[in-house]
Amino acid sequence: MKVDGGCFCGAVTYEAEVDPTKVVICHCTDCQTNSGTAYGVVVVVVDDSFSLRTGSLKSFEKVADSGQRRELAFCPECGTRIYARPAGGTPGVFGLRAGTVTQREALKPIAQLWRKSALPWTQDISSLPSFEGQPQVKP
Ligand SMILES: [Zn+2]
Ligand SMILES: [Zn+2]
Repeated sequence: MKVDGGCFCGAVTYEAEVDPTKVVICHCTDCQTNSGTAYGVVVVVVDDSFSLRTGSLKSFEKVADSGQRRELAFCPECGTRIYARPAGGTPGVFGLRAGTVTQREALKPIAQLWRKSALPWTQDISSLPSFEGQPQVKP
């Protein structure tokens, strides 16, 4: 599936071919911290087909919870994380951050990885009070 997307500030835009049957939620502690939220949602890029249309990426290398060295790429202007892939050109999973994909509504997770570090509440949010937008909050 051909997709496009970009970062929060708009400096980085890209296109890629992804496998919509390979979308996962990742509960690893790296994804929690690097995303600044509860878990990551990742879609697999097919054959390194990711290409930048505009902007440039900065990257950071990290030994992941899996023990593999990963290259984490992000927008140097706004910090939006864009992808993670094996460092140094070694073969392996090239994961695009699903929240940056324009067509993300079509990307439905099929599994949860690193369940052992999942924040327990992530397993059921359907019972929480819900609002269609931002509710009035009294200071
Ligand atoms: Zn940006
Ligand atoms: Zn992760």
